[in-house]
Amino acid sequence: MKPAPLKPLTAKQVQRKAIRLAGAMRMLRDEMEALQEQCPHEHLVGKYKGNTGNWCPQDDSYWIDAHCKDCNKRWLIDSEDNAEEYRTFKGEKDYGY
Ligand SMILES: [Zn+2]
Repeated sequence: MKPAPLKPLTAKQVQRKAIRLAGAMRMLRDEMEALQEQCPHEHLVGKYKGNTGNWCPQDDSYWIDAHCKDCNKRWLIDSEDNAEEYRTFKGEKDYGY
């Protein structure tokens, strides 16, 4: 037996459901952020990136696209703004594109 086709919803029903889903997504996002705060980030992968060859070499910049495989957090580590973190980054290096 085929499942019955879904009945179209009224605009009001869609509005109520959209509000409920948005609330649930906000709660899940907050929960994910809290989890990422607690994560020791032990399994990191870093893509080494750079913007080089600028007319002014002072404008060249280097950074790491860091990704934690445990909590799925992603962030940038700039070689100047976060020099210490950049220098001591212990994650696995990803040379892929
Ligand atoms: Zn993590």
